[in-house]
Amino acid sequence: MDNRRAHQPPRAPAALPYSHSSPTLTSRTAPSPINGSSLSNESRTAPLAAPAERCTTCRKGVSGNEMQKGGDGHVFCRTCYAERFLPDCRRCRRKIEGGAVTSSDGKVAGKYHPKCFTCWECSASFAGSEFYVFDQRPYCQQHWHALNGSLCANPKCGSPIEGPCVSLVGEENGDHPEHFVCSTCSEPLPEHHFVVNGLPYCERHAQGPPPTARPRKAGQQEPAAARARKRQTIITRR
Ligand SMILES: [Zn+2]
Ligand SMILES: [Zn+2]
Ligand SMILES: [Zn+2]
Ligand SMILES: [Zn+2]
Ligand SMILES: [Zn+2]
Repeated sequence: MDNRRAHQPPRAPAALPYSHSSPTLTSRTAPSPINGSSLSNESRTAPLAAPAERCTTCRKGVSGNEMQKGGDGHVFCRTCYAERFLPDCRRCRRKIEGGAVTSSDGKVAGKYHPKCFTCWECSASFAGSEFYVFDQRPYCQQHWHALNGSLCANPKCGSPIEGPCVSLVGEENGDHPEHFVCSTCSEPLPEHHFVVNGLPYCERHAQGPPPTARPRKAGQQEPAAARARKRQTIITRR
């Protein structure tokens, strides 16, 4: 009895390492023959031009740089991968393979190639990071104001108005206050102005030539002064 008890403890630990190591050995050795057979299969079919991998979508054989892997491990050729996973540039409609540009505040919709993120109208690149957004598209200052109807209506200026602005009643476009001038003498009209045929005039030039200087005929238009209405010049902000 004493002898048997003394022999039992060494036997138990000896059995444990063995039973543990046994499945480990099996699992390690099991893949070897599979690898071996698949390698030999490839080498046998290689003369028939069967590639190692095929594109999941178009079944074209792919290798090297042509091969792309989707997140789920599926293999694609470059074209099918781009078609399936890469975003379209909103400007040129082509796929974006490298870094894409988006607006951090989400005001510009979609993604762009860096070289395509320019004024939607004139393709001017943006100095620094400043650009304007209209209809979720990026624009330069000039073209944003053109779309917004906020370019100075004075034909000698035509530049963007960001700040004080004077508009004729009923007109969408306005002028810089310093460019809101008589259409004849270019005198500023800070207090009042007269409107003739949609243009601002000072009081003197709203009158037009004296009626005696223009022979009146039947059906002739009324003198400008009769249609000119005195209006207050109101400065708003753009
Ligand atoms: Zn493909
Ligand atoms: Zn593009
Ligand atoms: Zn532009
Ligand atoms: Zn102006
Ligand atoms: Zn005038």
